[in-house]
Amino acid sequence: MNETCPDCGLRFEREPGYFIGAMYFAYAISLPLGGVLSVIAWYLLRWQIWQCMLAAFVVYLPFVPWIVRYSRVLWLHWDRAIDP
Ligand SMILES: [Zn+2]
Repeated sequence: MNETCPDCGLRFEREPGYFIGAMYFAYAISLPLGGVLSVIAWYLLRWQIWQCMLAAFVVYLPFVPWIVRYSRVLWLHWDRAIDP
């Protein structure tokens, strides 16, 4: 991740640990996604629920880099809107 925006020079990480707040957005994205994937796995496979959750987790893993990136973007927008 760049330290500053190459276009406008905005410094992304305002303070140490700044992106810990992005975990709220990652959680908000991941929980419904995991639920939907679990239900899809249950509907298609008819396994036990823990097996469906495990299958959903395996399917979910490739989405983690995308979720981390966009949760940081959402956190940046949220934080800048509250405290510019
Ligand atoms: Zn910029």
